[in-house]
Amino acid sequence: MARLFRRSPTQTTVRRAGIGKQIPLSPQQFSFHRQQLHQLVSSQTIPEDQRRGLCYKIGQQTIASSRSMKDPNFSVTSTADLQTMAEMYDQHFLGGHCLALARHFGMQFRWSNRMTSNGGKTVRTVHNRRGAERVSYEIVLSAPLLFQTFRDLHRPIRVTGSLCSNRLQAMQRIMEHELIHLVEMLVWENSCCASPRFQGIAARLFGHTEHKHDLVTQQERADQKFNVRVGTRVCFKYEGQLRVGTVNRITRRATVLVVDPTGQLYDDGNRYRKYYVPLSHLSPARV
Ligand SMILES: [Zn+2]
Repeated sequence: MARLFRRSPTQTTVRRAGIGKQIPLSPQQFSFHRQQLHQLVSSQTIPEDQRRGLCYKIGQQTIASSRSMKDPNFSVTSTADLQTMAEMYDQHFLGGHCLALARHFGMQFRWSNRMTSNGGKTVRTVHNRRGAERVSYEIVLSAPLLFQTFRDLHRPIRVTGSLCSNRLQAMQRIMEHELIHLVEMLVWENSCCASPRFQGIAARLFGHTEHKHDLVTQQERADQKFNVRVGTRVCFKYEGQLRVGTVNRITRRATVLVVDPTGQLYDDGNRYRKYYVPLSHLSPARV
């Protein structure tokens, strides 16, 4: 397997998943926060104008307190920005109960450079250390999806049913969605965004009408901007030589299979060598 190009510099600070710092609660505090959170998300409805005001304030404060984000179409961000944003949502929408509970276990935030279809994910991990079980939580947002949206393809972008006009708004909608997953995991120990319970909370607190996004994917960008799709014959340069192959997969980069007698045998009976090529280095081949 040949790795054709080194990864481009990351636009985010990426930290591997760990356990996260614990801020333990007493059993009384724990049940207090859990009960309050349960009650709040089961009954509270936030009126639209109040919600819009709060979301705007959270967005503005995230940028104002960030060391890297400069404007709503930021090109650099960090883990700290995710944390700041989540803390403000917790404070304004969840009474501060959600992160108090999550930090009792251990809570981390992270940008992923590898997530190319999901906008975000919330992970509950059970660690087993010397026979003792420990649970921790992590919210991860996709950097590729956010950074390739509001870039060079211009079309309306909807996340959770809301039209977004910049990266910050898309980031907020994904964070809201993931925070509901976290709330459900903390209160009910399971979470599913297709369920009526999840959708009820999402609609009452955040006005979400859907549980999906249509952020620009690498496949769409490859097609629209570079005229490259899975199956397209392409050429690219490798170590100064022109190679011609077929696009087999498009994630963050394109996987291109080039016929090579020393390569791996595929089920069509040919041997191919696999190259990972950034989309901007490919051109459609005329053969
Ligand atoms: Zn979900």
